[in-house]
Amino acid sequence: MSAPSPRIGRHAEIVDLLHSPAQTRAWASVLLGRRGTVVAVLRNGTLGLLKLDGQSHELPGGVLRWPVHWDDLLVHDDPAGPEKPACDYRLGLSNHERNAVQHAVRVKQKVSLCGEAVRPLPTLGWCLPFLPTTTRACPVCVHLAERPAEVGPARSASPPPSSR
Ligand SMILES: [Zn+2]
Repeated sequence: MSAPSPRIGRHAEIVDLLHSPAQTRAWASVLLGRRGTVVAVLRNGTLGLLKLDGQSHELPGGVLRWPVHWDDLLVHDDPAGPEKPACDYRLGLSNHERNAVQHAVRVKQKVSLCGEAVRPLPTLGWCLPFLPTTTRACPVCVHLAERPAEVGPARSASPPPSSR
């Protein structure tokens, strides 16, 4: 499975349209130079779905979202907007879809508080906060997430003795 894209939520600018799908290239004159926000990753990661800034009536067919090849985009480093997650922990899933357990995951990590390797939601990525109240919540994560943040590494996760 491909890594979750860190590009989602980034601001980007259409600087070229050489590699993008024909439907996008056809409107190059209108789309070039436009800015927007990456809202999804398409085609096994080769394309970004860019939601353009501005009003839909300014755009061809009123379409705000365009698939654009990464090589045609200038992706800015800063996440779009000042939005800061209200909760410290993201929602990560373990096990199979059918009875996936919801774990608490620190931002930009792929291991939950309880030490499980977790993955983002299939469609939404890491955008959802961990909710201790849901029935599928991992009890260990609920417990750890409710504690006040302790300074330093978590005591429960002791490193392997081999790391001297
Ligand atoms: Zn957990």
